[in-house]
Amino acid sequence: MAATTESQARRLMARLDALAAFTDDPPRLTRLCLSQSHRRAAEQFIAWAKESGLSAHIDPVGNVRARYEGRRPDAPALMIGSHIDTVRDAGRYDGALGALAALSVVEGLAAQGRRLDVAIEIVAFGDEEGVRFPRTLTGSRGLVGVNDPQALEQKDADGVAMRDALKAFGGDPDRLGAARAEGVAAFVELHIEQGPVLEAEGRALGIVTAINGATRLDAVVTGSAGHAGASPMDLRRDALAAAAEMVLAIETRARAEPELVATVGRLDVEPGAVNVIPGRVRFTIDARASLDEPRRCAVADIAGAMQAIARRREVRLELTQTYAEAAYICHPTIVAGLAAAVAAIGADPRLLPSGAGHDTMVMGQRWPAGMLFVRCKGGVSHNPAESITEDDCAIALAALTRFVEDFRPS
Ligand SMILES: [Zn+2]
Repeated sequence: MAATTESQARRLMARLDALAAFTDDPPRLTRLCLSQSHRRAAEQFIAWAKESGLSAHIDPVGNVRARYEGRRPDAPALMIGSHIDTVRDAGRYDGALGALAALSVVEGLAAQGRRLDVAIEIVAFGDEEGVRFPRTLTGSRGLVGVNDPQALEQKDADGVAMRDALKAFGGDPDRLGAARAEGVAAFVELHIEQGPVLEAEGRALGIVTAINGATRLDAVVTGSAGHAGASPMDLRRDALAAAAEMVLAIETRARAEPELVATVGRLDVEPGAVNVIPGRVRFTIDARASLDEPRRCAVADIAGAMQAIARRREVRLELTQTYAEAAYICHPTIVAGLAAAVAAIGADPRLLPSGAGHDTMVMGQRWPAGMLFVRCKGGVSHNPAESITEDDCAIALAALTRFVEDFRPS
């Protein structure tokens, strides 16, 4: 690896540490979409971009955007980046690595005084994790121009509407259309793998072939609350016992197919007292698969099984779909370009699918798009134990730089 790439990787790792200090919940890293800490992280990102002589700003949907001009002002730009929001108690590499690596690649070119034919647009999306608001990916949807205006009216757990959070952040909810990107040739995202495949095979990098589609549902089960001592078992309408049976039905259906995964990640019980039969339970369902049809079938089956349980137990079930995203097959020219770049730096191009969703799946609706994965320790992600090495970081920067240098808009 060239010495310049090594020093770039060192600086990138230091910046990842510095960005991790922007949290709403220290010492844990929690940087939810459009929060105070997200705002401060965005400002830091802009400051780093400006240090390298780039123009940078927050766009109307809350993305950070920066631009490195090319030699041909009329040519469409190559866009690269990832997200800077996090889950609760997050690791410091999910998203931030790809956003800051984009900056590093451009800094490497700028340091050598190099301009490519095409401009490079850097983006740091702000709404990838979908923790704060149920409808997610509003940043990339804004660039593509497919945001549903209703997304602005959704509220977080504290009752704050996305519209107000976006305004406070520095976005412009009344001008979402102005975030729509023009003059883009393609989009590429560098990201940690969030799975164990690359580490198991002893490889630093992987090239993503497809991204799983996902459906999210909100379930509310209403029975009747009652005294835990005075209500005989056969006269109860216990919302939690019904929900428990539903959770197991979801697991059973997901296990029936190798490509399908489904998770109940959150469950709220009311009134939540030791001596009261639960009267109401609310929980989430997240189902994913690499093909859309099996996922739709599974979601329909799950809904049917849950309704049957609700009827038998005489509880009411309300099931609402809060989110759905189709699977995305990465663009063949981008996959080929990334594979060539990885081969050019002396690594073996390993193709693999992505189990997690990414902004790339939205960007791919309008532009050729693809992803480069970096090995992470134990495949662990969405966890403070998330870890990558500086060596892998240098290899990833070399490959991404090579891709950018060789990129030709089709
Ligand atoms: Zn991510």
